[in-house]
Amino acid sequence: MPVEKVLLAEPRGFCAGVEMAIKALAWMVRVFEPPVYCYHEIVHNRLVVDRFREQGVIFVDDVNAVPAGAPVMLSAHGSAPDVVAASRENNRYVVNAVCPLVTKVHHEAKVRARKGFTILYVGHAGHDEAVGTLAVAPESMQLVERDADLEAAAASVTDPTRVAVLAQTTLAQNEWAGVVERTRERFPEVWTASRNDLCFATTNRQDALIDIARRADAVVVIGSANSSNTIALTKVARDAGCPIVLRVDGPDELDTAAIRDARIVGVTAGASAPEELVESVIARLAPRDGVEAVRVTDEDEYFPPPRELRELIPALDAAAALVLGGDVTAVRAAGGPFVDDRTLDASKVLAAFGD
Ligand code: SF4
Repeated sequence: MPVEKVLLAEPRGFCAGVEMAIKALAWMVRVFEPPVYCYHEIVHNRLVVDRFREQGVIFVDDVNAVPAGAPVMLSAHGSAPDVVAASRENNRYVVNAVCPLVTKVHHEAKVRARKGFTILYVGHAGHDEAVGTLAVAPESMQLVERDADLEAAAASVTDPTRVAVLAQTTLAQNEWAGVVERTRERFPEVWTASRNDLCFATTNRQDALIDIARRADAVVVIGSANSSNTIALTKVARDAGCPIVLRVDGPDELDTAAIRDARIVGVTAGASAPEELVESVIARLAPRDGVEAVRVTDEDEYFPPPRELRELIPALDAAAALVLGGDVTAVRAAGGPFVDDRTLDASKVLAAFGD
């Protein structure tokens, strides 16, 4: 039976942090002689990583593998303080593309640790963001991934009035709420961030999907298996009662047999999945009656390029002026090489790499 209609979640796909990181690495590829290095996958998406590999970017899991003097980017997930320090040694040119919302959690961890709190950090063991955040105040932080961890962590609390709960930014809302509730039962004065640490992009994508998952016969979540927010979306769709939930990296992984009886199919994409994958999955589904966009909110957050790249702007202006006949003032009046960063679309940047 053909798919009748696709319900397409809005917002979906690239968030402001991923947009910033991808455009920043694209700038580095343009500005520096290859190879440019990147510590960890820039974002957890296979296509994105492969496109940058094709541009000569070398991904490493150890900053000491980056040669002296080479340019290196630190990924959007945030890095441990000792990794940031080590990457700056040996005259490496370092661009730290950590998302500002991850930096906010690092800051919360630092402040609470300084004030003597025991910090229960809700996150996934081994995920780059969790590893980086836990390293900010390792002596004060305990990872809570499941209920048993909460019991063990709670047993180590010495002052019940100084307990804080922080979280990985990309969790499913249920995962976070459950831990906070159980912690509050035990430690009524528990401290949490005024809203919570789940970022706007995570919650917006989940909210957009809940409605769709209730109406659809099946939901397809586009994103890689190591993408935390993608996995959170699959949980949200299941919790909303959708009987068939598939996660695919792209159209080739679509299990058409699994959705052969589905008339209405919901589609969304994790925060690190480019729009070209959404388009190709919908083309594969070929809905007879087309696509209905289901929008819960407008998302217009913009994160400017990392500080280190912004500091390069004067040099880039001068280089652009050289090409344009030496008139730096004219280049700056036109906004310089970063003029279009806000309006530049990271999905299009990647698509251009693939042409
Ligand atoms: S998912 Fe949220 S925290 Fe992660 S990069 Fe995107 S905006 Fe930042």
